[in-house]
Amino acid sequence: MTVQANPISEQLFSRAKVVTPGGVNSPVRAFGSVGGHPHFIAQANGAYLTNADGKRLLDYIGSWGPMILGHNHPRVHQAIAEALQGGTSFGAPNEREVLLAEKVVELTRSSGVERVRFVNSGTEATMSALRLARGFTGRKYIVKFRGNYHGHADGLLVEAGSGLMTTAAGQLGSAAPSSAGVPEEYAALTLVSEYNDPAALDTLMQGRGHEIAAVIFEPVVGNAGVLVPSADFLAALHRVKDQGTLLVADEVMTGFRLSLQGACGRLGIQPDLICWGKIIGGGLPVGAYGGRAEVMDFVSPSGPVYQAGTLSGNPLAMAAGLATLSELQDQPELYGRLETYTTALADGLKDAAQAAGVPVSVNQIGSMLTVFFQDAPHGSVTTYQQAAHSDTQAFARWFQAMLAQGIYWAPSQFESIFVSAAHGDAELQTTLQAARQAFSEL
Ligand code: PMP
Repeated sequence: MTVQANPISEQLFSRAKVVTPGGVNSPVRAFGSVGGHPHFIAQANGAYLTNADGKRLLDYIGSWGPMILGHNHPRVHQAIAEALQGGTSFGAPNEREVLLAEKVVELTRSSGVERVRFVNSGTEATMSALRLARGFTGRKYIVKFRGNYHGHADGLLVEAGSGLMTTAAGQLGSAAPSSAGVPEEYAALTLVSEYNDPAALDTLMQGRGHEIAAVIFEPVVGNAGVLVPSADFLAALHRVKDQGTLLVADEVMTGFRLSLQGACGRLGIQPDLICWGKIIGGGLPVGAYGGRAEVMDFVSPSGPVYQAGTLSGNPLAMAAGLATLSELQDQPELYGRLETYTTALADGLKDAAQAAGVPVSVNQIGSMLTVFFQDAPHGSVTTYQQAAHSDTQAFARWFQAMLAQGIYWAPSQFESIFVSAAHGDAELQTTLQAARQAFSEL
């Protein structure tokens, strides 16, 4: 495996490990499942990162989703700079919160959103939405799907995807909590079903539907690698509403990415609540949850479900989110361009793997894509179990071969990559050339 020397990054990582657990502030960043050491990033512009050693990397992570316009986009940069002139935090309402909430409602009204509450991360968004669902329904249990990830709130670290598929915390292997520190009693309130298995969900709901406050799901999964929902599964999800259970779409990854109206708009999903993160903050820490007025009015101070935040609605963060969503709205052709790029990338990767005799199965939708290192037809991986069959060692070797050529792919088999508006023809050709080389080295 070729792991390149980056002495400054290595030194920073050594220092970080002294003062921070594992040297990172979020587990997958540590490169634990692919080997080598993380690159410390000094700067980001357009489709490129520059690491602390001065090496330029073509970025397919985009901060794990937010940077859909590319890094340091002029409109977002300017909006933050303007907001900065007025101070960084008020702990009181400001106009930008109203403007961003109006924008989010405008863009997602077709999915039933009338009111939205801002928080500071995707984790807070899902945690708060589920408290709301429990408060609204008066029920205790929630349902999630194996391999879906909804942030790190206690009750959601059960059979979770993302970093939990590859890190020590995820190796506990039991059906109960997928992290130490989550009491079994909390985990017992989370029932787990299989993604893309409508019969399993129907059976669970027939038995216990009256006890279930919410079914939370990723409308397109990114956190087990990309998994696309079947029409039958989407129909089963909608049926849970017949029992008074709230359907909660976790669009933290897919919101404003798979279309301007998110995955729900693209796939015709009508949830009761939607959670957002990532793009909604344009690269600053923002999450949100929203839904119809009747449900959202249960949130304090309108209603009895408490939820608060010292920095919620922060003016810099609101400015970045507003500039990002406005730019996406002003460039209606952008989503088509992202899709064209990512489809060409998928096709090129399939050809390159085949030419080298490496079995892979590529899943792609919009600007999200995963190359599963396993022998299955393209697009046929639709469940967590199928995804988990992948050869993570082959992936790690391919990842390192790509990185050695300056391509910064997601450092885990079980993640999506994200294409941005700053990725153009030159980037596509560079990537495919590197991929041909990387596959040939396996
Ligand atoms: N839900 C989904 C679908 C996610 O992908 C993520 C993060 N990758 C989260 C929730 C948690 O968001 P955050 O990391 O901002 O807390």
